[in-house]
Amino acid sequence: MKLSANAIQLLEARYFLKNTEGRIVESPEQLFRRVAKHIASVEEDKDFWENRFYNLMAHLHFLPNSPTLMNAGLPNGQLSACFVLPVEDSLEGIFSTLKDMALIHQSGGGTGYNFSKLRPQGDRVSASGGTSSGPLAFIKVYDTATEQVRQGGKRRGANMGILNVDHPDIEAFITAKSKGDELQNFNLSVGILDDFMRAVQNDETWNLINPRNNKVTKTIRAKELWDLIISQAWATGDPGLIFLDTINKHNPLPKLGKIQSTNPCGEVPLFEYESCNLGSLNLSKMVKHENGIWQVDWKTLEHCVQVSMRFLDNVISANHYLLSQIETATKNNRKVGLGLMGWAELLAILEIPYASDKAVEMGEKIMRFIQAKSYETSEALAKERGAFPNWEESVFSPKTPLRNATCNSIAPTGSISVIADTSYSIEPFYALAYKRVGILENETQLEINPVFVSKMKKLGLWNESLKNEVLSTGSIQHLVTLPSEVRKLFETSLEIPWQYHLQHQRAFQKYTDNAVSKTINLSHETDTDTISEIYRTAWEYGLKGITVYRDGSKANQVLQACQLN
Ligand code: UDP
Repeated sequence: MKLSANAIQLLEARYFLKNTEGRIVESPEQLFRRVAKHIASVEEDKDFWENRFYNLMAHLHFLPNSPTLMNAGLPNGQLSACFVLPVEDSLEGIFSTLKDMALIHQSGGGTGYNFSKLRPQGDRVSASGGTSSGPLAFIKVYDTATEQVRQGGKRRGANMGILNVDHPDIEAFITAKSKGDELQNFNLSVGILDDFMRAVQNDETWNLINPRNNKVTKTIRAKELWDLIISQAWATGDPGLIFLDTINKHNPLPKLGKIQSTNPCGEVPLFEYESCNLGSLNLSKMVKHENGIWQVDWKTLEHCVQVSMRFLDNVISANHYLLSQIETATKNNRKVGLGLMGWAELLAILEIPYASDKAVEMGEKIMRFIQAKSYETSEALAKERGAFPNWEESVFSPKTPLRNATCNSIAPTGSISVIADTSYSIEPFYALAYKRVGILENETQLEINPVFVSKMKKLGLWNESLKNEVLSTGSIQHLVTLPSEVRKLFETSLEIPWQYHLQHQRAFQKYTDNAVSKTINLSHETDTDTISEIYRTAWEYGLKGITVYRDGSKANQVLQACQLN
């Protein structure tokens, strides 16, 4: 098995089993064997499936989310990355969820919550005769607790905090990170309703409503609230937006109620107490060299989708659940999220520039295929094992029995793409040479993108001076002597117009039943009007959420910290 030096380093720090003295007692082969064996333990033909799952991972064709790699096969191994928990308007509810959060973080999972049920700051508290602290105060409590738990020493917990746009404390929420160093363990998103977007467009007023008694506490100009969101997103990257009406338009189980939150990075909208396990196909491996050109290997891709979907469905049965409510909610809907990584690398192999219509079309084609094959597999699994218990309540009834209420999510793949040694998720290359920082504390690794190097060698353009230029700048756009099509092919994240970032997100969202996690990376010079246009366009495109990050606008980002500098 060939793993990169970075991958080995990361596995050693966080994934390999260690004995009581802290010595590593596992090789990469043994890690994938441990995972494959555990996930196949729910099969009748255990050996057959263990080998299939092992090969899938050992070839780096697919990797499950980190908790599965870390915990499968261990006693009480918790295998899911994504959870949504309720936050009820009572001290008891708030602190019982805080405890559940700590347990989930300790196991390597991330948690999302919508705080909109909480009465606003200064509101009446009948039990004590005093006044309430409001959602912001409790978000801070959750943040501090997260800091202390540090996910069992393996990784820091991640949270999504949502407050709906009509909550009386929304202005304080929007500006919560304005000092820059607060709430570092939270992604904050405003829960957006379509009515609000229309009110902004028509420059109408907007009511803030106390959730305790449904009374209007304040009426403001919608546009003013929007401008506040935009100026904060420009300054700090937060808040992002979560489009709640769009999410609920696509909710496969509307009879169970409305979805109010997503997991930390936004790729999985979930009901309270639902969890979801993710896995990602490595697109850079789904290629073949035929007739002198590189092409997508659709047959291998199809096979990998089938085995991966079975893997993810097995995770639900082989999982250890920390709470009975989570077990019930998760097993009733059996949601999984099969996604991908290595999109930018695939495009480079196929010689298609990221910032091109051809790339966007290719994105739609690939995701349409993955979705179709995922659903076919879920249908076949339903024939073999039965449909998910809530199926009759779902939009799929009475026509199509499915094993899983959702099949696809596009996760950031912050760690597993390092293990697979490919580009993150559907993101463009961040730079052609970079330091990977934060994966291991105090550790930096200088790397040049290997696809770029091999392409340059093939074209006879690779030499010491090019190497030094790339190492010092991370880009080739200023090297005007290079052929323009080569420069176009290797444009990096900040060099790609935001329109293409957004079009890629739309292309993949179109065929993803859950959601797509993507950061629209922007140059430092980007102005607030552009951010406003991006957020508005995201809503018009029917995206489920949107996050921007303007270069240099935040010292330390929740998950970005484990990505590139
Ligand atoms: N996540 C988390 N803490 C982290 C990274 C991720 O809790 O430090 C959770 C979070 O719910 C996120 C999901 O894992 O949305 C998937 O993130 P990613 O794809 O980056 O995880 P990986 O499997 O690569 O570790």
